Amino acid sequence: MSELQEYGGKATMEKITSLAKRRGFVFQSSEIYGGQNGAWDYGPLGIELKNRIAGAWWKEMTRLHDNIAGLDAAILMHPRTWEASWHVENCTDPLVYCKKCKSRFRADMIPEENLSAKKCPDCGGELTDTRKFNLMFKSHIGPAEDTASVIYLRPETAQGIYVNYKNIIQSNRMKIPFGIAQIGKAFRNEIVTKNFIFRTCEFEQMEMQYFVKPGTDEEWFNEWRRQRWAYYKKLGVKMDHLRWHQHGKDELAHYAKDAYDIEYLFPMGWRELEGVHNRTDYDLGRHAQFSGKDMQYIDQDNNNERYIPYIIETSAGLTRNVLMILCDAYDEEQVAEKGNAGTEGSADDWRTVLRFHPDLAPVTAAILPLMKKDGLAEMAQDIRKELQDDYATDYDQSGAIGRRYRRQDEAGTPFCITVDYQSKEDGTVTLRFRDSMEQVRVPRAELAVRLRQEIKSYKRIK
Ligand SMILES: [Zn+2]
Repeated sequence: MSELQEYGGKATMEKITSLAKRRGFVFQSSEIYGGQNGAWDYGPLGIELKNRIAGAWWKEMTRLHDNIAGLDAAILMHPRTWEASWHVENCTDPLVYCKKCKSRFRADMIPEENLSAKKCPDCGGELTDTRKFNLMFKSHIGPAEDTASVIYLRPETAQGIYVNYKNIIQSNRMKIPFGIAQIGKAFRNEIVTKNFIFRTCEFEQMEMQYFVKPGTDEEWFNEWRRQRWAYYKKLGVKMDHLRWHQHGKDELAHYAKDAYDIEYLFPMGWRELEGVHNRTDYDLGRHAQFSGKDMQYIDQDNNNERYIPYIIETSAGLTRNVLMILCDAYDEEQVAEKGNAGTEGSADDWRTVLRFHPDLAPVTAAILPLMKKDGLAEMAQDIRKELQDDYATDYDQSGAIGRRYRRQDEAGTPFCITVDYQSKEDGTVTLRFRDSMEQVRVPRAELAVRLRQEIKSYKRIK
């Protein structure tokens, strides 16, 4: 069975890209100039979604673990960092050019027969030999553009953690095992950027590096695999769209003893979402060698035993998680819904709905007055004021109520609160659920508590 047949979801990359633009999740960077390849801008709904995904990860990693500390290291680092990490030598893609049509290809992404025959997959022209192309963005710091002033935009966030590991032990009195978590931007000069925000030159990572005693590394490796899998389950992601991929001998990075990726079944097929890697003592060993600093851990509870810790890394793409959550939440369905606030649509109506977990939804509750007049708008505005300190809210008073529900469905808003004439009489409002489209009457005074309960007990129904 092909990957696309296997996919079975209703999202396509075209639909996701178009919805993302239409509703203000993601725009192409510098669009008025024809766009900048490999760069994307997050619009009003997109930044909220990205922040919520980052927030969920940060909470999971730091607040729920008392031995994991946070860090926000600079993007610009001492250039020796990248020699120690092997990126100067080894952060490369194999590249071939077509001499005829001038197209560039990653040698590992074109069919083997084209590579061996040196034949362009596009035009049949002759291909060059494979060359190493370094993926790091290089610039100069200070006024002189010479070799002494070379600086790189970091190609990964992990190194900022390694160089701070001793600072964090000392400032936070950390004892092994412990972790350091960081969310931040990284940059790679990707030759082939495609699939919307999946592979981009500027991206964000969510990385947690866990420092352990050698010999306990395999146990911790398995534990982190377990925890990272459970995390996606907690977010309500379709679990049959996730799988493990163990790196074969030929795929293992030079530093890795063992590596598994969590892959997600995107519309374009299975792709890496997150990596869990046993990086051994490679990183700290290399930084000790290149910096001349002692990177050993001193185990004061164990006769001052000294060793260079092993590192278990969990490395997820934040921007890639945004794409995953958009694809995972995307649904289209036929609707015919009725409620106290009026009929929403007829049997031949369709809706597009993003079934975000309420913890991730950019807007938690939209407050909608059935009519602008007769004091309904004022009451709705008051309700919004009551809720906005605790919840992300939206207010919309224009258009038919059914169309307003559709707009909120498409933004992934889990709850709509509709103020109607009955609200004026008995102080109740309609609470409408995105997934089931059911409506219930709730006393206005109970809204905040009710929302909290609904979020806590949320179960994805499709
Ligand atoms: Zn060609």
